[in-house]
Amino acid sequence: MKEVEVPKDYNHENEIDWQATWQRMKLYQFNTEENRPRYIIDTPPPYPTGSIHIGHVLNWLYMDLLARWKRMQGYSVLFPQGWDCHGLPTEVKVEEIHSIKKNDVPREEFRQMCIELTKENIQGMKTQMKRMGYSQDWNREYVTMTPEYKEKTQRSFLQMYHEGLIYRAVHPVNWCPRCETAIAFAEVEYQENETFLNYLEFPDPSGKSGVPIATTRPELLAACVAVVVHPEDERYQHLTGKKVQVPLFNREVKIITDEEVDPSFGTGAVMICTFGDKTDVTWVNRYDLDIIEAINEQGIMQDVCGKYSGLTLAECKEAIVEDLDKEGFLTRKEKVDQNVGQCWRCKTPIEILVKKQWFVAVKQMNPQIIDAAEGMDWMPEHMKTRLLNWTGSMDWDWCISRQRIFATPIPVWYCKECGEVMVPSEEEVPLDPTQTRPTKPCQCGSTEFIGEEDVLDTWMDSSITPLVIAGWPGKEYHDLFPSTIRQQGHDIIRTWAFYTILRTLAITGDAPFHNVVVNGMVFGEDGHKMSKSRGNVIAPEDVVTEYGADALRLWAANSVPGSDVPFAWKDVQHGYKFLRKFWNAFRFVNMHLAAYSADTDDESIKNTLKPLDKWILSTLNQLVREVTQAMEEYNFAHARNRIQAYLWHDFCDDYIEAVKYRLYTDDEGESKQAALYTLNTVIQTCLRLMAPFTPHFTEEIHYYLEEYGSGEREDNSGESGKTIDENVFRSIHQESWPEVVEDLVDPVADAIGQLGADVIGELRRFKASRKMSLNTPLKGATIYSSSHEKYNQILTLHDDIKGTMRIEELMVSEGKPDVREIVVEVTPRMDKIGPEFKGQAPVIVKYLQSHDPQEIANSLEENGSIDIEGSLITADHISRSKELVGRTGEKVELLLLEEMDLVMELVI
Ligand SMILES: [Zn+2]
Ligand SMILES: [Zn+2]
Repeated sequence: MKEVEVPKDYNHENEIDWQATWQRMKLYQFNTEENRPRYIIDTPPPYPTGSIHIGHVLNWLYMDLLARWKRMQGYSVLFPQGWDCHGLPTEVKVEEIHSIKKNDVPREEFRQMCIELTKENIQGMKTQMKRMGYSQDWNREYVTMTPEYKEKTQRSFLQMYHEGLIYRAVHPVNWCPRCETAIAFAEVEYQENETFLNYLEFPDPSGKSGVPIATTRPELLAACVAVVVHPEDERYQHLTGKKVQVPLFNREVKIITDEEVDPSFGTGAVMICTFGDKTDVTWVNRYDLDIIEAINEQGIMQDVCGKYSGLTLAECKEAIVEDLDKEGFLTRKEKVDQNVGQCWRCKTPIEILVKKQWFVAVKQMNPQIIDAAEGMDWMPEHMKTRLLNWTGSMDWDWCISRQRIFATPIPVWYCKECGEVMVPSEEEVPLDPTQTRPTKPCQCGSTEFIGEEDVLDTWMDSSITPLVIAGWPGKEYHDLFPSTIRQQGHDIIRTWAFYTILRTLAITGDAPFHNVVVNGMVFGEDGHKMSKSRGNVIAPEDVVTEYGADALRLWAANSVPGSDVPFAWKDVQHGYKFLRKFWNAFRFVNMHLAAYSADTDDESIKNTLKPLDKWILSTLNQLVREVTQAMEEYNFAHARNRIQAYLWHDFCDDYIEAVKYRLYTDDEGESKQAALYTLNTVIQTCLRLMAPFTPHFTEEIHYYLEEYGSGEREDNSGESGKTIDENVFRSIHQESWPEVVEDLVDPVADAIGQLGADVIGELRRFKASRKMSLNTPLKGATIYSSSHEKYNQILTLHDDIKGTMRIEELMVSEGKPDVREIVVEVTPRMDKIGPEFKGQAPVIVKYLQSHDPQEIANSLEENGSIDIEGSLITADHISRSKELVGRTGEKVELLLLEEMDLVMELVI
């Protein structure tokens, strides 16, 4: 029956052929027409750096597991893939590649260079994703730099603008002087470092003693607009309402009081500069103080800084400290630790500048965001707290304008005459306002406009993904929105998760998704973050080349959402080994399946099942239940580990070994058919359980098992030489997820089967310890149990134990074995006898050798000595060898299996 030759070894290079086959079969294509329940995954659009890293591997594996599992459960799954293209790293890369600065070429030309590079990078990453076997529907790919996508981003901008949720204002913003752009609070990273706290004397203009100020930012002295002290600080009570002089700049500033001053830090008196930090912004607003702009966009000191203008921040700091010291204003310096906000992209310390920028009114949306987040299921739950905490801590609106080029333009013009803001209609987008003009004149009559050169923060693109994948703004989007699930890393909760919730609420009034699954980060084998400088970076393609995508997937699946995981070569190797173990088991089973008459109906064969068949089928159905539940809980590690343990140990090590004797018997009777039925059922079911985890491997086995390989060789056969007729071939990934067959779950069978596996395991270990091959027959064995229940269980296992361990005669008995120890040899100890009895020794030796060893032993036991022609021999003069014998006097060995309540008496 089985004509297909199954290769001896599993070749993971065949993975590539399967990937091509699946694409040709359009297995993952989402069909909006289908009337099945939907499962929509709002996948992260990665930044096109050119290659996926091992963190992506983990992240996408979770999505792929869910997508594949849900498809098998009968869902119509939408698993799209997008690319979040815009942003600084690409601009920097383009500058590097072409040895230019972004302003050296026209904006459009620069943008084009960025687009070219991004296209290339997307291609590379797409190839890698396909190589991992991820099952995205590539027909649903979206790319944020395309006109179609920009249209959606600009439309969403216009909608929020018209609703008053986007506004333009002068406001302090976080500024990266290196990137020369405003950045959002979510993009500021805090880093501990050491700096000097400088103690300065601010002179009292009337000549009396002034105010001591401790500051880490003396370079901002030119922008000092007030000094603030705590209202109850006794040291400064007499000064409130008075003025002091700013050293070096000969300007007077007011002394004000505020509860927020910490009297125990520094001198308890603080200078307010515009702007040193966020607290300065609060105080300037609270007390309506002047704003002095001391630094420009590149971090260079401005004219107000007098002799320091033109210096960088660092140069200015050095020069000012030196001058303060020279003039006697610097009283002392001390080292302190400080938390410095820096740009998340380039790590440059951020400054706070006052800029006219575009903002999203986050603060007024916060209550809605909190409600929406509360209404979602978070996995793990504590990630929700992260989002809620972030939402609660927000005191500035989201600055969305960036002073860059490669991004979605802000669709806005300004009237040259009156400054009025003009926006296009939704039908006019996408557009670049620097290239086009409004279609109608300003209300003041002017037709002269300036197009906005600032562009949008890239999060403005990526925060509408659940709408984009649903087809928004087309009416049909209601059908596919909200998404079922959002999956993402915990590093982008305050950006991507937060912004997406905010934006879809603002645009549609609805939350973007029902479930959020947050994955952890992947560390190097050494437990540190992967970095080139540490040399602990693992490239996914290297792992895949050596061990295949499935082995890497098995590593990644050994984790749970929310937890960071280290990469481990040994886990990959273990997965690789496991697949080969299963392959060998499959080959063995497949060989025998030729004799399986599959037409026997399920019910009648179930009546012929032997105890071990019932056991492995019972545990199989418990496995199905446990794995399904683990998948529901996103506990991928548990699902994977249970499948692996079951197949490796219960199935391969125990069950297959214990039914081999039934397969090798020539009779085509019930017992053999029952074993074949069971083997086939276990393999078929486990293939389906494993399909989401190891899609290639399971497909390969499925292909041979279903005899798809027997046809004529066709043109589309790949390297592996397999032939696949896609009209006939039904992929394992088109099969349905296994259901628990409740009436096969049987605790009695579990107990008996486990006992059988344990007894056989002990006997196998016994044979191994005696250097006997597993096939060496044992002459006889009796298994004793003092428990009636165990006795009965062993009775039902009689044939399996006998057959598997090749025991010529196996008996089962209640009670304890009747064995005795007998002395089989008595050896004279010449080291004792020689010196003591001298000339008599030969007589003694002769006597000992010619008498029955047991009798000698008995006499010694009874009398303490034996008189041999006058010489008194005691136990000290001999050594004895003993043996156990059974009831019939035959030599036996005993195996005590106390925890099983069994004793085995063996005759070798
Ligand atoms: Zn930067
Ligand atoms: Zn106007």
